[in-house]
Amino acid sequence: MTRRYRTAALLLLAAALLASVPVLYSLHQARAQAIREKYVQLDDVASSIGRQVRSTIGILQELHREMRGSGEAPCSADGLLRMQRFGMRSQLVKSTLYLQDGKVACSSSGALMQSLVLGPYSARAPDGVRVYTQVQVPGLSGHEYVLLERDGYALLVYPEGLISPFVRPGLSLGLFNSMDGRYTARAGDLPQRWATDGTASDDKGHFIDKQADALVVRRVLRPGGTGVIVATPLATLDARMNQFAHWFIPIGIIAGLVVLGMALAMIRRQWSTRAELLRAINKGHFFLLYQPVFCLQDSTCIGAEALLRWQHEDGTVVPPDRFIPFAEDAGLIQLVTRRVLELVVKDLSGFLRQYPRFRLGVNLSPRDLQSMETPQLLADMQRAIGPGIGQFVVEATERGLLEEASAQDVVAAIHALGIEIAIDDFGTGYSSLAYLTTYPFDILKVDKSFTSTACTEAVTSQVATHIIELAASLGMQTLVEGIESEEQAIFFRDKGVIYGQGYYFGRPMSASALADFLPLHSRPGQLAAHNVTAPAPPAGLQPRPG
Ligand code: C2E
Ligand code: CA
Ligand code: CA
Repeated sequence: MTRRYRTAALLLLAAALLASVPVLYSLHQARAQAIREKYVQLDDVASSIGRQVRSTIGILQELHREMRGSGEAPCSADGLLRMQRFGMRSQLVKSTLYLQDGKVACSSSGALMQSLVLGPYSARAPDGVRVYTQVQVPGLSGHEYVLLERDGYALLVYPEGLISPFVRPGLSLGLFNSMDGRYTARAGDLPQRWATDGTASDDKGHFIDKQADALVVRRVLRPGGTGVIVATPLATLDARMNQFAHWFIPIGIIAGLVVLGMALAMIRRQWSTRAELLRAINKGHFFLLYQPVFCLQDSTCIGAEALLRWQHEDGTVVPPDRFIPFAEDAGLIQLVTRRVLELVVKDLSGFLRQYPRFRLGVNLSPRDLQSMETPQLLADMQRAIGPGIGQFVVEATERGLLEEASAQDVVAAIHALGIEIAIDDFGTGYSSLAYLTTYPFDILKVDKSFTSTACTEAVTSQVATHIIELAASLGMQTLVEGIESEEQAIFFRDKGVIYGQGYYFGRPMSASALADFLPLHSRPGQLAAHNVTAPAPPAGLQPRPG
């Protein structure tokens, strides 16, 4: 095996081991659940047997009450008849007797019981019932009976009859006397220790006997102290689990490997996209388009916004929405911003020398506003183009301004360079009005989603108007984005908005196209250094005297 294959095999083995952890854990959980369910079944049987025992004691109590109440002598003809009737009540009762001085005085079964010899009773319950176990009936050898007695009145019970209705394969059943730990009835394998040792079980009477490999329920009924055991071998449960595991483990591991493989593929893809983006930055696959910005009041082009594009190796052009968020997540956005500013220098240095009052907007990402490197980069750009050439505006979104403390210093440092700050996509993000007063913004950009509804009946049609009023009251200039029709341009002009941008005025274009475009849409000399006329604010926005 070559080294490469060995490494691959080892990796696969490690992955399989990793994938088997959740599989084994779920198997373990499944077994615990199966045990809980089995206990519920065993509890059911134990309760049913317990009910049989209690109802037999109930018959004795009733016999006792009736005989006392009737006043008949127990062994009189009437008394015997009554006793016989009680004997017929339950199939478990073999005979009804009356005892005197530890001997049978008379019974519903006649002379057969006469020679019954009882030893000392083995238990006496607080309700006066005494229990004799291992009672033998002469002539019926091989059967052991239990005798329940109160004040001489007694029932001879065949205890095997109490459990026989519940006997089935895979189930061991037993009745025992908790005083002496002897079984009085049993079916199946029942070690002596289950009857003697009650400490092994939890408070519900459940325990697992490892030695016998069995699940056991052990109950002692009070009063009387009769014990019930219901047990089943763990092997049957485990056999089923094994059968299940036989399929589940390989399928689980394969599923785990598939998920692991998918996760790895995703990570790899992320890494390869990251590598691709880095290559694009370094190899110059990015370029800028410039979208004109107009003065609405006199319909002249006074600036542009730089919008980034990625020319993919396969020739397709990727829009920024597809890679900017990824660059932000991958921690590459500052490299992207650096590249954008380099491109501005490369594209527009000559153009800006010709139009030094041209306003150029550049987009920043939230991360850029957290780093003092950003004002540094902007200063480098200004220096490279030439002092006093170009009016720069950085566009920041609300998202970037939330972490106030660090952004505030960066914003101040950018301002100190004579660069204006515009708040982009206003109204679409977190829109905390508080930060509008915290930061010294110059321009508020109304998002294009509000522009498109402004001249319609839509519920949001009023939003743009309100934003414009808000900006005016805070002394900020407004730029409306996404103007696509003359109607919109007029609408916003009449609202006193100064700047507008959108397909109606011009789509994003190359730097050379911009150089051709500008002279057609501005007055000669309008943007030259010596003849600068900043757009006059409309009458409605003139500062009020006083
Ligand atoms: P944005 O800053 O809101 O840019 C405006 C977007 O609206 C541009 O999409 C532009 O092409 C588009 N647009 C302009 N006029 C109209 C119009 O009339 N109608 C419609 N429907 N759309 C119009 P683009 O170029 O795809 O940029 C998308 C976003 O990518 C920008 O939104 C900005 O957030 C981000 N972005 C672009 N360039 C850069 C960059 O250099 N750096 C950073 N960090 N983000 C950038
Ligand atoms: Ca923008
Ligand atoms: Ca925007």
